[in-house]
Amino acid sequence: MQPSIFNVRVPLRDQSDVFLMNTLTDAQIIAPPEVVSLLDSLAARTRAGVGDAFDPEEREALATLTELGFVVDSHDDDRQALDAYFDTIRHDSSQLRLTVLTTLQCNFACGYCFQGDHDDHNRHAHKMSLETAAQVVAHAARQMDAVRPERLSITFFGGEPLLNLPVVYYLAEHFHAEATARGVRLSLSIITNGLLLTPEVVDRLLPFGLTGAKVTLDGDKAAHDRKRPLRGGQGTFDKIVANVRAVAGKVAISIGGNFDADNADSYPALLDFLAEQEFGPKLAKVNFKPVMGGAAPATPPSTARPSGINGIIPLTAVAADGAPLGGTCMTVAGAGGTKAASACDTCHFVDETMGFLREETKKRGFPTVDGVHMGPCEIHRKHAQTIGPDGALYACPGFTGEATFATGHIAAAQTPLQAKAADRFDRIGAWRNCGDCSFIPVCAGGCSVASHTELGDLDTPACHRPSLESALVSLAADAAASLAQAPEDRHP
Ligand code: SF4
Ligand code: SF4
Repeated sequence: MQPSIFNVRVPLRDQSDVFLMNTLTDAQIIAPPEVVSLLDSLAARTRAGVGDAFDPEEREALATLTELGFVVDSHDDDRQALDAYFDTIRHDSSQLRLTVLTTLQCNFACGYCFQGDHDDHNRHAHKMSLETAAQVVAHAARQMDAVRPERLSITFFGGEPLLNLPVVYYLAEHFHAEATARGVRLSLSIITNGLLLTPEVVDRLLPFGLTGAKVTLDGDKAAHDRKRPLRGGQGTFDKIVANVRAVAGKVAISIGGNFDADNADSYPALLDFLAEQEFGPKLAKVNFKPVMGGAAPATPPSTARPSGINGIIPLTAVAADGAPLGGTCMTVAGAGGTKAASACDTCHFVDETMGFLREETKKRGFPTVDGVHMGPCEIHRKHAQTIGPDGALYACPGFTGEATFATGHIAAAQTPLQAKAADRFDRIGAWRNCGDCSFIPVCAGGCSVASHTELGDLDTPACHRPSLESALVSLAADAAASLAQAPEDRHP
């Protein structure tokens, strides 16, 4: 009998109690010092092997702790439970998740993005045809027949997906027909820059199952207009906000944002602005993330992503002590003056800023992510696919356009190269290189795209443990506040 390796704890401020969480079972309790000492002494007392090692009260507490997953029989049991957990996620058939890139074209020219309207990118960028859209629907129907999910979750993504409205409308209508015919619930969502998210578009999609749209604002008006302009340099903030205002009562709107050292300071002003808006209370979620490098685009060499794009913050791996595990720093974000930052500085900037912005978001009452339950993401799920504008299949949106990472095609037999890539993603698991890290069930070794693009290896963890740790402190404070209202639920 021993404490689970997936236990994490936070001593509660001004109290002797401790917030305990098991990241595998998601059990969360506030434990008094006796229970913490019991856990700490467990292995030694069990090793002592005396039958009466525990008194009746301790035995009762141990039974509850075991039921919640805080106590396990052995380290092997913990590792086997972890393998079973990832296996369950991998083969979960309750949902079929399809991310469909209707076009790689974009009407913005964001400095950090390799897809935007730079140079002649849009001339080469793929746009899905109606013929391919019909093949996508047939593919989804075949997948529903094979997987038999309860729900079909479709995300329209790009480029800017609403630049190809005929295909969006066609897909929505036909997905709805195919799902309804099979008794499968359909939900549609859109990840959009918001410029074309008008009431007309929303009204057209609502009958087919539109449940949400995620719109990006990169800071307050000044910062956003600098970061996400149109080709001619015109600002886009006012138009996006006007659209959000017009559709927020019709469909759930989430606000996302990409921060780097240049715009991170402007987010509190954006949050203040959103809080003042009539639509503010209707926002479903507000969450900001660091700008990160994506996979190289499948466009001709002349349009390939330029090196040294401003503001890219690599999600470079760090070990538990904050030291980089590998990779190099490509940015001076977070450094003062002309001094280049170390990878460590950069990671600290990302982790600290994410924590800061999460707290600022919560302070203003917006729903947001807790920063602990961050994964496993869809790349760990067999029944989640990304479909490129040409019908190529990928394990997640971050690999779109990298031909060697395509896992198949919606209307063609799998090539040996695609079979090899599919097999590679079937075995994906940077978390296997994370030792006994307590956060594996909620982190899974970090983003595999970051591992690939920044560390050159899918199985090298892209580690942001400090970010998880600071989010845990915040989660503990929230749990303590809510459990304080129900004292009888406090401990086992
Ligand atoms: S599971 Fe996540 S936090 Fe833990 S070592 Fe791996 S990458 Fe880092
Ligand atoms: S691997 Fe990264 S980009 Fe792909 S789904 Fe996961 S978190 Fe997103």
